[in-house]
Amino acid sequence: MIHKARKRFGQNFLHDQAIIYNILGSLQAQANEHWIEIGPGQGALTKPLLDMGIRLDVVELDRDLVVWLQKNFLNHPRLTIHSADALSFDFAGLADAGEKMRVIGNLPYNISTPLLFHLLENTAVIEDMTFMLQKEVVERMCAPPGSKTYGRLSIMMQYHCATEFLFEVPPESFDPIPKVTSAIIKLTPHHKKPVEVNNFTQMGRIITQAFSQRRKTLRNALKKIIDESSLANLGIDPVRRPETLTLAEFAAISNAVQSIDN
Ligand code: SAH
Repeated sequence: MIHKARKRFGQNFLHDQAIIYNILGSLQAQANEHWIEIGPGQGALTKPLLDMGIRLDVVELDRDLVVWLQKNFLNHPRLTIHSADALSFDFAGLADAGEKMRVIGNLPYNISTPLLFHLLENTAVIEDMTFMLQKEVVERMCAPPGSKTYGRLSIMMQYHCATEFLFEVPPESFDPIPKVTSAIIKLTPHHKKPVEVNNFTQMGRIITQAFSQRRKTLRNALKKIIDESSLANLGIDPVRRPETLTLAEFAAISNAVQSIDN
C-alpha cells in the first residue's frame, strides 16, 4: 500500500537513505536499550532501528498508518505499536522500574513545541531525545546568549537539557517536500539542573516579559517586575539587552523577585 500523506497529521516521509543512515549513525543505539519512536509513519526509521536489536515502542496518531505498521511489522517480538496521540501519551508508563528510555522522532512541526514540553515532564525516565525539527527551531533551542536567535525557547530548553545541533536535512529528503529546511537536534536532559530556580513558572513569566521588549534595556523591559537597584545588586547591568542574559542571570532575577514578594 502506498499511503497518501495527510497534511493535517504533518506527514512528510523521509526517503533519503543517506540521511536515514546519518541519523542512525548519530544515535549509537545498543541492543539492550529501550527506545520510543514518535510518529513512525511508514517506518523509515523504525525498520533500521529494530535492526539494531533494540526494544521499541512506537506512538502513531494516524489509524491507517497503525494498520499499515501492524501488517508490515507483523508480530515483531521487540516492537509495540501504540495507536495514540503523542501529546497526551503516558510515556513514563512505558518504563520498567529504574529504566531510562531513549526517544526519537521525525515530528510533525506543528506539534513539536507542545510535545517537547510534554516529554520534558517525563525526563526522569528519558535518557536522551533525538528529533527532526524545523531548522529555525533547532537553531533557537541551541542558541547561546547574545546570538540573534536566542530567546525564551533557548533558555527554557537549556534549563532542562543539553542541546546539540547535529546536522541539517534538506527539504528534498522528504515526500512530500516541505517548505522549510529541517535539522536534527539531540536533547539530553540534565541529571541535575544547571541553575537553582525557586519558582520555575515565575522565571518563565519573567523571561516572556523580558523578550516581549527585546530591543529595550532590561531596566525598561522588566520595570514592573524588578527595579534598577535590585538588578545592580545582582551584578546585572540594568542597561543590558534581555538577549544578553544567561539562564543563570534570569534565575537570579526570578529568585530575587520571589524574595522581594515574600
Ligand atoms: N517518521 C516517519 C514519519 C514522519 S511524518 C518518517 O520519518 O518518514 C510525521 C509522523 O507523525 C506521521 O506518521 C504522522 O501521522 C505522525 N503524527 C502526527 N501527529 C502525531 C501525534 N500527535 N502523535 C503521534 N504521531 C503523530
